[in-house]
Amino acid sequence: MKKIFPIIICLFICFSCKNVENSNETLKTETATETTTEKPEFAIVIHGGAGTILKKNMTPELEVAYQAKLEEAIRVGYEVLKNGGSSLDAVEKTINVMEDSPLFNAGKGAVFTNAETNELDASIMDGKTLNAGASAGTTTVRNPINLARAIMEKSEHVMLSGQGAETFAEEQGLITVETEYFYTENRFNSLKRAKDREKVELDHDDKRAFYDPYIKDSKYGTVGCAALDKNGNLAAGTSTGGMTNKRYGRIGDAPIIGSGTYANNATCAVSSTGWGEYFIRSQVAHDISAMMEYKGVSLQEASRVVIQEKLTNLGGTGGVIAVDKDGNMVMEFNTAGMYRATMNDKGELTIGIYKKNL
Ligand code: ASP
Repeated sequence: MKKIFPIIICLFICFSCKNVENSNETLKTETATETTTEKPEFAIVIHGGAGTILKKNMTPELEVAYQAKLEEAIRVGYEVLKNGGSSLDAVEKTINVMEDSPLFNAGKGAVFTNAETNELDASIMDGKTLNAGASAGTTTVRNPINLARAIMEKSEHVMLSGQGAETFAEEQGLITVETEYFYTENRFNSLKRAKDREKVELDHDDKRAFYDPYIKDSKYGTVGCAALDKNGNLAAGTSTGGMTNKRYGRIGDAPIIGSGTYANNATCAVSSTGWGEYFIRSQVAHDISAMMEYKGVSLQEASRVVIQEKLTNLGGTGGVIAVDKDGNMVMEFNTAGMYRATMNDKGELTIGIYKKNL
């Protein structure tokens, strides 16, 4: 017995070491930065859209430009959080940086509708109060995320649309612009390509470009942010121009609370990007929170199931970024890439574009 005892101890130690190795591997996975040790004071995660983002289609200059803008944006939110500011402020100010850049399909870089207009959607949610604000189909508000927040905080409504939303924005003193402000050559060319494609599709099999694989394979480019602040409050926000060639006043998932954006201090904060129709039908953002709330699963597992199984099985494409009440961050997507970045309370930054590159 005396001889067997040390052998049992050795076996036990070896077995424990193996488990530590395995959990370290989990920490290195690309789509999650789960921390299993102490809870961070604050955390922030952003996306700049998902889609067929392939290295072979990207110039080095463009890649650097995207990385620089993602970093600039997330550092703005990081500073807010580091200085004790609210997650709502961090989300709004971070999104403003991306809205003001032509690189993303939000604010300045919004895509064109079939009628050659730009119609913008946005939403924001406060995880502490479960209050939320959203605007849909605006054409003159420079930063729709600011409008969404004003709707949440200064109106008795959750969602305003079109001209009414613009009137409210003016009453609130938000910056408005001429519609030409949203013109960018790149986005206009994308519309032309979509329309050309549509002609071909209609000639052949009566399908519309908006619903065909061309759109499925394109880049979405919406922007979003989720943050946890030092007071334990979660917030999420999303801003977009929608989808190229959209028509008939189409509204996507971005301004739909529960689809494009959701935040609840009891669970997590989520922002989505992808083919909006599928995100609405799957209630992606709320579904992740609900899985955590009702089934007690981790944010990582809930996001994986919702994106890789539920959304994918339905035929939807895109992804989410999210942070939970313990500061765990997740970036889950079923497309070739998603512009994304995270920062924790130690100031550690990760930036990713393609699937296996974080
Ligand atoms: N989800 C957005 C929409 O369908 C598009 C995007 O994510 O870029 O309007």
